[in-house]
Amino acid sequence: MRVFLSLGGNLGNTQEIFEQSYPAIEKKVGKILQKSSLYRTAAWGLKDQADFINQVMLLESALNPHEILTEIQAIEKQFGRERLVTWGPRTLDLDILFIENLKIQNEKLQIPHPHIHNRKFILIPMHEIAKEFEHPELKKTISELMLEATDDFSVNLIPNP
Ligand code: ADP
Ligand code: MG
Repeated sequence: MRVFLSLGGNLGNTQEIFEQSYPAIEKKVGKILQKSSLYRTAAWGLKDQADFINQVMLLESALNPHEILTEIQAIEKQFGRERLVTWGPRTLDLDILFIENLKIQNEKLQIPHPHIHNRKFILIPMHEIAKEFEHPELKKTISELMLEATDDFSVNLIPNP
């Protein structure tokens, strides 16, 4: 199944942590088909912390949704994620944005991820790799959602070296 995953982090050398996570993601979750650029984004939630780096990727996975969640949580752990403060700094946050056009609502897993449409740090990298993808609940493309998004947190492209 086609899976869109978001990567985020603001603790330690995030670009290096992302680089190291790619082989782990390929081994445990599935083949990476596309990756967006990296974006530097202002912290959400708790604002008094370092900027985040965010990225979105498209994967082909043979796992079911709960298996994907289990695997990404194991990878977060492998990279030292600690949940000390809600919405606080983290080394690696992996979230499932979409799994094809599935809709899942239970206490462990919500697909599509509930905050996609109002977070430019997700919409902008998502737009780079899949602007025509239609949100299965909102029935709007990523391009359309971008035009409607009202959050004004900064999201800046990090140029490739
Ligand atoms: P956040 O990503 O909101 O900053 P966490 O990464 O700590 O917070 O995630 C908290 C919980 O969110 C996880 O334990 C997981 O069970 C749940 N969750 C629900 N839907 C998803 C999803 N689509 N992707 C990842 N986690 C999810
Ligand atoms: Mg998360």
